[in-house]
Amino acid sequence: MKLFKTVAMAAIMAGVAFAAPAFSQDKGLVGVAMPTKSSARWIADGDNMIKVLQERGYQTDLQYAEDDIPNQLSQIENMITKGAKVLVVASIDGTTLSDVLAQAHDAGIKVIAYDRLIRDTPNVDYYATFDNFQVGVLQATTLVKALKADTEAGPFNIELFGGSPDDNNAYFFYDGAMSVLQPLIDKGTLVVGSGQTGMDKVATLRWDPATAQARMDAILSSTYSDKKLNAVLSPYDGISIGILSSVKGVGYGSGDMPMPFVSGQDAEVPSVKSIIAGEQYSTIFKDTRDLAKVTVDMVDSVMSGKEPQVNDTKTYNNGVKVVPSYLLKPVAIDKTNVDLLVKSGYYTEAQIK
Ligand code: BGC
Repeated sequence: MKLFKTVAMAAIMAGVAFAAPAFSQDKGLVGVAMPTKSSARWIADGDNMIKVLQERGYQTDLQYAEDDIPNQLSQIENMITKGAKVLVVASIDGTTLSDVLAQAHDAGIKVIAYDRLIRDTPNVDYYATFDNFQVGVLQATTLVKALKADTEAGPFNIELFGGSPDDNNAYFFYDGAMSVLQPLIDKGTLVVGSGQTGMDKVATLRWDPATAQARMDAILSSTYSDKKLNAVLSPYDGISIGILSSVKGVGYGSGDMPMPFVSGQDAEVPSVKSIIAGEQYSTIFKDTRDLAKVTVDMVDSVMSGKEPQVNDTKTYNNGVKVVPSYLLKPVAIDKTNVDLLVKSGYYTEAQIK
């Protein structure tokens, strides 16, 4: 022990980093630009990316922009200046990066869109994400199952929430969900009481829970004073939490007012706890460990001059080109299979209790 301390001290004094030498191989710098730390999923994404990149011998520069677009632009510019070889970008607004990515392209840097498509630029090389349309299909399917709207006539009252209108994913989630819900709305089994449908009416800027909560408050007071709300399509767990606190505020979840069935996405801890407690009905599990792995596989390929593995070359047209993509499979979670999150090692039992 004493000897170890002496060696450690000597190393520190000599200015030698006393870190594990396992990652000493230097394959170059990879910049990872993430949108915000306000949602746990992006923290997990950043952590997993850094872990896998470092295991494979890359240097890393991970930045979070707190949902501020100019902030994200300057972070990416900085990565270019620092000599990054590859940029991995989860954009805030997928349409704002054209200039900075042109700079990256001129510097010979490859660009991978992470989770969210980067739009309106030729300078995005690959896209790693989940099957976003399927996310919406699964969200809606959980609500249909909860309401038994596939076998019972209803009518059931439902309200619709969309994600941020500057995030390409939000349209895929909404369209996927509506592919399931619209036929039931047309049949009269589901009724959107507020009449608010379409992304132009239901979107939630920056996925902000408070914005969603205020919209739910307004809808409850304008539309539901004499009837009950049975379900809410929510695209993301943070928004679901906002919706749940709004409905609880007017008495849902007690007495003769059962909680409406509310969907979600990301399996964030507060929502998983809420599902276990019987409040939020469902979420979508997107294993960010798998997304990090697929993305770093892409980094490895482009760095060695090979074509990365993709499984979709049709779906993601960014306005300029179809970006070759790798789509992972999302999984619907409700109270009956919530243990999958522990079994898969995504969370420990203690984290979600
Ligand atoms: C991601 C979702 C997430 C949402 C809000 C989307 O782009 O795909 O997983 O819920 O952003 O952060």
